Amino acid sequence: MDDLIEFRARVRAWLAERYPEIGPQKDDERGDTIARAPEGHVAMVQGAITLQKALYAAGFWATRLPQEYGGQGLTRAHDDIVAEELMRFDCPSLRPLGIGMGLAMPTILGAAGEEQKRRFLPKLVAADEVWCQLFSEPDAGSDLVSLRCKAMRDGDTWVITGQKVWSSFASDAHYGMLLARTDPNSDKPHSGITMFILPMDRKGVTVVPLVDIAGGHHFNEVFLEEVVLRDDEIIGEVNRGWQVANGTLSGERSGYLGGSGKGRRRRQALAAAADAGKLHDAVVRDRIVDVAARERILELLAERIHAGAALGGNPAAGSLVKVYAGNLEQQSSELVIDLRGASGIAWEAGHPDADYAAHALNGSRQSRIAGGTHEIQRNLMGERILGLPREPK
Ligand SMILES: Cc1cc2nc3c(=O)[nH]c(=O)nc-3n(C[C@H](O)[C@H](O)[C@H](O)COP(=O)(O)OP(=O)(O)OC[C@H]3O[C@@H](n4cnc5c(N)ncnc54)[C@H](O)[C@@H]3O)c2cc1C
Repeated sequence: MDDLIEFRARVRAWLAERYPEIGPQKDDERGDTIARAPEGHVAMVQGAITLQKALYAAGFWATRLPQEYGGQGLTRAHDDIVAEELMRFDCPSLRPLGIGMGLAMPTILGAAGEEQKRRFLPKLVAADEVWCQLFSEPDAGSDLVSLRCKAMRDGDTWVITGQKVWSSFASDAHYGMLLARTDPNSDKPHSGITMFILPMDRKGVTVVPLVDIAGGHHFNEVFLEEVVLRDDEIIGEVNRGWQVANGTLSGERSGYLGGSGKGRRRRQALAAAADAGKLHDAVVRDRIVDVAARERILELLAERIHAGAALGGNPAAGSLVKVYAGNLEQQSSELVIDLRGASGIAWEAGHPDADYAAHALNGSRQSRIAGGTHEIQRNLMGERILGLPREPK
C-alpha cells in the first residue's frame, strides 16, 4: 500500500513538472480529441508517441508487463495509478497507441513465441513501434470468419493477397496483426485462418486513408498485393489464427470503456447543465444521476471481469461490457447535446464545448460498431453465456 502511495506521488510529481494540472472538463476534451485534418492527425499521433516514450523512460509505463519483455514487472494497481494521474494533467492523449497496448501486447503475450515476445514487446511499449489491427474486410466484419484475404504457400514463405478496411491508425503503424486464410479447403472456415505479423513497409502493402463520420482521419483501407511473409512472422500456429484472434477480440471488448477517464460522462453532463443554467432542473438532474450511476456500474463491471470474478471468467463477458459501454456512450452524448441546445448542433467554428458535444454524439455511433456490433455481441452473449441455441448459419 505504501508502495502504491509513493508510486502515485512520483508519477504525479513527474507529470506536474511537465504539464499544467487541469480541470476535468478540459481533460475530457483532450482525451477524445479527434483530428479533422490530416496534419492534425499526424500531430495527435506524434504527441502520443512522445508522451509514451517519456513515460516509459521514466519507468511509469508498461508497469504490469514482465521485465524480460521490457515492462516494470509491477501490478495492475500501478497501471491504474498512471492512467488516473494522466487524467489530471493537460498532456497529449495516448489513444492513438491504444491498439498496440490494448490489443497487440496481450495477443503477443498470450500467443506469440518467446523470440517474438522479446523482439516486439519492448519496442511496442517504448512507443518505438506502432501497431494496428488488420482483421475486417469489405465483406467480412461481423462475419469475420468468412474473411478472404489469402495466404498461399510458396516454398518456405507465404504470399498474401487481399484487402482490409476500417484499419484504425494503419497509416501510422509499423506492424499490423493480420488475419489471412492459409487453408481455403479446410472443413470449417475458422480452422483455415492464420494470424501474421505484417511489417507495414513490406513490398506490396498500400495504405489508403479514409475519413470517418466525425471527420477523424484514423481509418484506412489496406491493400495487400503478393506480400511475402515468413514463418517466423506467424503468431501462434498455422491455421490456428481464429483462436488467437478470439483472444484479441475478447480483450478488446472487455477493455472497451468508451473513451477517456473515470466519471467523464458525469462531468461532461454536469458542465453542460451548468452552462445551460439547468443544474437545478429536476428532470435534468434525474438524467445526470442515471448516467452517473450507469458509469459507475460500468467501471465496477469491468473491474470484476478483469479480475475474472464475473461470469466465472467466461471470455464472452467482454461482450457485456462492450454493449453496456456503447449504450451509455450514446445516452450520455445525447444528454449533453440536449443540454447544449442549438449550440450543440450549430455553432461558431472553434467553440470547444459545442464542437466536442457534436463529435461525441457522432462518435457514440462508432462505439456500437467497433470491436463487433451490438447485435453480434448479443448473439455471443445468448450463445456463450445464456447457452441459447446457436444462430442458424
Ligand atoms: C471506430 C471503429 C474502429 C474500427 N477499427 C478497426 C480496426 O482497427 N481493425 C479492424 O480490423 N476493424 C476495425 N473496425 C471494423 C469493425 O470491427 C467492423 O465495422 C464491425 O465488426 C462490423 O462489421 P461491418 O462494418 O462489416 O458491418 P456488417 O458486418 O456488414 O454489419 C452490418 C449490420 O448488420 C448487422 N449484422 C450482421 N450480421 C448479423 C447477425 N448475424 N445477426 C444480427 N445482426 C447482424 C450488424 O450488427 C450491423 O448492424 C472498426 C470499426 C469502427 C466503427
